[in-house]
Amino acid sequence: MAPNPPAVKRQLAAVFDMNKCLGCQTCTIACKTLWTDEEGMEYMWWNIVSTMPGKGSPRDWQTLGGGFPNDGDADPSRIPTVNEFGQAWEFNYEDVFYGGEGMNKYLQTKNDDGDWGALWDEDQATGEYPNAYFFYLQMICMHCTNPACLAACPRQAIYKRVDDGIVLIDQERCNGYRFCMEACPYKRIYFNHNAKVSQKCVLCYPRVEQGVAPACFRQCPGRVRFLGYMDDKDSAVYKLVERWKVAIPLHPEYGTQPNIFYVPPLSPPLFDDNGDVIEGSERIPRSYLESLFGPDVNRVLDMLTAEIEMVRGGGESEMLDTLIAHQWKSMFGGFTKDPSTLKRPT
Ligand code: SF4
Ligand code: SF4
Ligand code: SF4
Repeated sequence: MAPNPPAVKRQLAAVFDMNKCLGCQTCTIACKTLWTDEEGMEYMWWNIVSTMPGKGSPRDWQTLGGGFPNDGDADPSRIPTVNEFGQAWEFNYEDVFYGGEGMNKYLQTKNDDGDWGALWDEDQATGEYPNAYFFYLQMICMHCTNPACLAACPRQAIYKRVDDGIVLIDQERCNGYRFCMEACPYKRIYFNHNAKVSQKCVLCYPRVEQGVAPACFRQCPGRVRFLGYMDDKDSAVYKLVERWKVAIPLHPEYGTQPNIFYVPPLSPPLFDDNGDVIEGSERIPRSYLESLFGPDVNRVLDMLTAEIEMVRGGGESEMLDTLIAHQWKSMFGGFTKDPSTLKRPT
């Protein structure tokens, strides 16, 4: 059986509205520049936005196992390799940009063993023109209620903060065994081959402690990312997850009770052979979305579609207004202080 979840006083959670994501990777770069720009961290993307259907990073992570499937025993898995995550590529700037070889040489230099990159299949659609489709999946550590990474660590180096439920790896205690990488079903932990420790998204806790939203949330131009405590009934997160139940977990069957919730993607309609719209059709197969979010995704998509129809008919919807986020401060559950107010530890 899955172990009992660690007790916390409050749980910080997030909602990602997949319908608003531009795939711009501003979030990815915001995290990279803030947290993972040191030696040993080159291949780390604590935040990643993958094109779906796609293999993601690490490649085919959804097939690697881990977690407590259906609340059962820990699922055997394995540690993804650096190449499966995707190495940082070398680029031939010298010849292509400055050596006059732009028409003769490729910009990208092949890495040793490199046959995958974190965004290898970015913007690659599935299906046949004109009915091809893709959408973006935003992923960070899910700061799970029952973290498989924590349960797997024989050093008790991983802990869940009592005051906010953020899951952290104690860098002093970590011995680099990597059982956590194996156990996490979302494969959101990386190994730092320089420092010899495991590392992952920290939910920007030094910012959160000072009332500033995490970098990847704050810098998202699509207003995709909502933050708030699960027990704060005024927060957008509470309303979207608990009140309207329009945001749901990714792969709930993994059994770790993730605290990042998703508003699943609505579909454009299909075209028939004459190029005419097939009314009421959906281009993204429901069966594919069910494979990501479970059968509950049908209820959410039907509810969202009905709400949009209602507004088009002249009605008003607090749920859609919340998702649109006319005022950015409405998204962050009180974590709205300006990053310029941040005090660095002395
Ligand atoms: Fe641990 Fe993975 Fe859950 Fe993050 S997503 S808390 S790394 S099990
Ligand atoms: Fe990176 Fe902070 Fe976003 Fe986590 S919350 S992915 S640490 S920017
Ligand atoms: Fe861009 Fe926001 Fe989507 Fe990240 S979540 S890719 S910042 S729109």
